[in-house]
Amino acid sequence: MAKQIGADRLGDFYTTGRVRKRREWRGLADTMYDYSCWLKIMLILGKFLMCPRNIKAMFRYRWMANYLAVPMMVDRHTQGLRGEYLRIAHTEFDLVVDDVAKLLSNLFRADRRIGNDVEFSKKCVLVDENEMTAVMMGFPTLKGLSRETVSTYVPVLQNQHAVLHYLDVAQDYGLAGDVCPMPAAEAGVSIDDDAPILGACAIQCNTTCDGSLLGNGVIAKRLELEDGVPCFQLAAPLRHREDDVQEYAAQEIRNAIAFIEEHTGEKWDWKYYFECARRVNVATESRLGWLEMNKTDYPQVFGSNLALYTETNYMAICGKIPEFEKADRKITALAEKAYKKKMRAAKEYRHRAIVWGVQSHYYMDFLLWLLNCWGIVPLTDMLSMVSTRRLAEEDTPENRETAIYDMAWLTENMIMRNRTHGGYKVLLDELWEFCEEFNADMVILWEHMACKALSGFHGQFEEMARERGIHLVWVTHDLFDPRVVSRQGVRDQVNNYMRTVFGEEPIDPTLEVLPDQESW
Ligand code: SF4
Repeated sequence: MAKQIGADRLGDFYTTGRVRKRREWRGLADTMYDYSCWLKIMLILGKFLMCPRNIKAMFRYRWMANYLAVPMMVDRHTQGLRGEYLRIAHTEFDLVVDDVAKLLSNLFRADRRIGNDVEFSKKCVLVDENEMTAVMMGFPTLKGLSRETVSTYVPVLQNQHAVLHYLDVAQDYGLAGDVCPMPAAEAGVSIDDDAPILGACAIQCNTTCDGSLLGNGVIAKRLELEDGVPCFQLAAPLRHREDDVQEYAAQEIRNAIAFIEEHTGEKWDWKYYFECARRVNVATESRLGWLEMNKTDYPQVFGSNLALYTETNYMAICGKIPEFEKADRKITALAEKAYKKKMRAAKEYRHRAIVWGVQSHYYMDFLLWLLNCWGIVPLTDMLSMVSTRRLAEEDTPENRETAIYDMAWLTENMIMRNRTHGGYKVLLDELWEFCEEFNADMVILWEHMACKALSGFHGQFEEMARERGIHLVWVTHDLFDPRVVSRQGVRDQVNNYMRTVFGEEPIDPTLEVLPDQESW
């Protein structure tokens, strides 16, 4: 119960139920700040629930109930934080919460079952959850809306059990049980007829893998044959670092834009595109600046504060929402302030780690847990190591052509697919380069057992880590399905390594085993 970082035994806050015993006392200023942010989130929730459409949706869609746990999700990712770290976390998470609330409201406004605003629906384009939304950067009057984000991806952040029902539905229907739970759950929502129905058209992308293609296939059939929503399949090349695929990739972007124009009657707006491209550049420069700081002894934007925000800002926002540019600048200012003061986010830093592989760290507080329990600093993670390319941002005839290639590049380099596909260089070789650049002595390697793209490399990761003297900690999990590997099952893999290989004791022993199986 104190102002200082590391003053609390964080495990003491847990109960065997869904909620914690009490809120954290962080000193007067930080507690008041945290409490005011909590109130703001309650206000967003309250405002959202004031709309009769949203109430109706709450009763129609099974996954909606999870949104009641939003404040708990934010609390989970701010545990133990003080000062600038707390402010960075709230700047990001509170903005993401607000953005998701707007996404939900727009979906329900257009949804044929809820608001049934036909004219608005004609201005909506459905996009995949896992899709880079670059092709929407030139349509200021259209809304690119993702049903999978709200029905699958966000609910598991709030409640790790959120999509188990949909996984069972997909398997009952006959889909293979070893498919990645992410596309399987998305397909399950569609099979269960539990997705909003709306939109002038949909853009699906061969986002990441065979599982993803399978899920999209099921969803596209329902959209096209039953709901009458035409789908475009944006097939971005998987060998994304090769020059010979770029022209094909660019043509796919041209085709997708033409498809949206045809089905919505809107025209591509270059002025708006370059405005968005400039904001994407701000986001990229900000991220690169944070990563530079993380290479020093005083990393500032790392762990949860880097991961979830990057994913949202890079893929879903992609320069379209000005508030994210403001947030980028604010986070950078806070980080620089903390860096000048040589601040640290925990009382002891023992190891510097790169977190690699497809992660399940959002469904728990894993990155903060690594830091607070074992003093492992998660400097960066695989999904945050995305495009560093600067986009053309001035409207000239040459740049209009370059822009098509820029959008193709972004689409090819979506989060996850830019590493899970594209060959040894992007998945293996660059990992060791990052270890060197960031001066990391450890790699926390998520092994998502249903992700065939990564599992095939197991032996090579081991061999290469051994050659370089890097500690490689495998953390097996099954993404959205905690029945296969539980939260404690994940933590125990790290606990065992730290105790047996390093012979270390935890910094905060109350965190080693947590009764959080049911916890939001
Ligand atoms: S985690 Fe792996 S299997 Fe799942 S969607 Fe991503 S690439 Fe595909």
